Amino acid sequence: TTLKPQRNKKVAPLFKSWENFYYRRIFHRIGDVFDRPVCSSPGARLEVVMRERRGTDLVTTGETRELVNLGSYNYLGFADDWESTCGDTVLRAVEEWPISCGSSRSELGTTTLHRRLEQQMAAFVGKEDAIVFNMGYGTNSTTIPALVGKGDLILSDALNHASIVNGCRASGAFIRSFPHNDAGGLEAALREAIALGVPRTRRPWKKILVMVEGLYSMEGEICDLKAISAVCKKYKAYLYLDEAHSIGALGPTGRGACEHCGVSPDDVHVLMGTFTKSFGGMGGYIAASAQIIDHLRATCAGFVSHDAMSCVLCEQISTALTIVEKSDLGARKLRTLKDNSNFFRSELIKIGLHVYGDYDSPVIPVLLYNPAKIPAFSRECLARGLAVVVVGFPATPLVKGRARFCVSAGHTLQDLQDAAAKIKEVADILKIQYAISPFG
Ligand code: PMP
Repeated sequence: TTLKPQRNKKVAPLFKSWENFYYRRIFHRIGDVFDRPVCSSPGARLEVVMRERRGTDLVTTGETRELVNLGSYNYLGFADDWESTCGDTVLRAVEEWPISCGSSRSELGTTTLHRRLEQQMAAFVGKEDAIVFNMGYGTNSTTIPALVGKGDLILSDALNHASIVNGCRASGAFIRSFPHNDAGGLEAALREAIALGVPRTRRPWKKILVMVEGLYSMEGEICDLKAISAVCKKYKAYLYLDEAHSIGALGPTGRGACEHCGVSPDDVHVLMGTFTKSFGGMGGYIAASAQIIDHLRATCAGFVSHDAMSCVLCEQISTALTIVEKSDLGARKLRTLKDNSNFFRSELIKIGLHVYGDYDSPVIPVLLYNPAKIPAFSRECLARGLAVVVVGFPATPLVKGRARFCVSAGHTLQDLQDAAAKIKEVADILKIQYAISPFG
């Protein structure tokens, strides 16, 4: 049989909205936002191999430069003192254990290292038990469908991460978003949904799950956990907290948003986190009651159908966690991170930039507004020895593009002071101080 070309088939539109259309045109013309250097040692200082555009090709020039890294999630600086902290353990683990378990956790992929890390993590965050997964994104996107489904209601913060959105959609539960970090908005949405009940049948919801993050990574904003957990208690809703950016970064002992906000871990039913940020590893975890964890072990695709976390990583994360939990070095790292974050935030505010978020947050976004200034900001910073991450549509609304600085315990105050002076130069050139949005 020959395949006939299909004629008259409706072609999906390339640009779904005016925002998408303008975004593509602007970035296509400016082009250079994609010419990022290649990194060879990502710590608080970053070595990069420079590339340049020759015609349509990106060519490595061979030149290497050292930049101050204000973009990675290396909150506790484990990437900077790798050898003195996790290096030995990892080398020993490489000799003793395979890299891949070659099996999912529910088959033959559970080792004593996995169980030890799970017990350590559960004790650290104050829960009965925990599961570790080999990917943070997959932790959310496979756990949520195992917890809720048809006939259940999810109330999700309007600015939740893509992995949460993905998990919610895959669950088949009815999803409502509530205004970002607004306990009043959550209560209003809950009341309305409870009054209406399950669509068509009007029966009461079987379960209600509220999804929030401890620290919002595009906003640098800390969750209003006290008020949100009080609303959940009042309406008998379960609370799921994503601590990807807050575990090991917030709270005097690094125990995350619960500790920072003075909320008991008993009031948050599911604590999720990742090891890619503060702990300098890979993967994610869920900590909860023994009953919830047993249920996840039987039903969660990330546990049943996904290869187990590498044994070597289990050792590295366990070592990093022990340092945070038990040593003076861990306490020093946490204190330095907090001091550095607050110092850099106040320096940027002094310059006159529009800074988003809360004090104590190591994520510090600065609004650039005009999309055309996004690649220009990145390029000018790079020219002055600063590696920064700039974010625009569709991760943010079109006119709320921003530079997102991430502070680390590996930075010195001098690094941050110099960086602030350079950012002031760039802000003067691009005129982004006291930025007033033309769109209100
Ligand atoms: N949750 C949040 C809030 C995140 O920001 C991220 C990624 N940055 C993830 C989950 C996914 O984690 P990972 O990158 O470790 O897969």
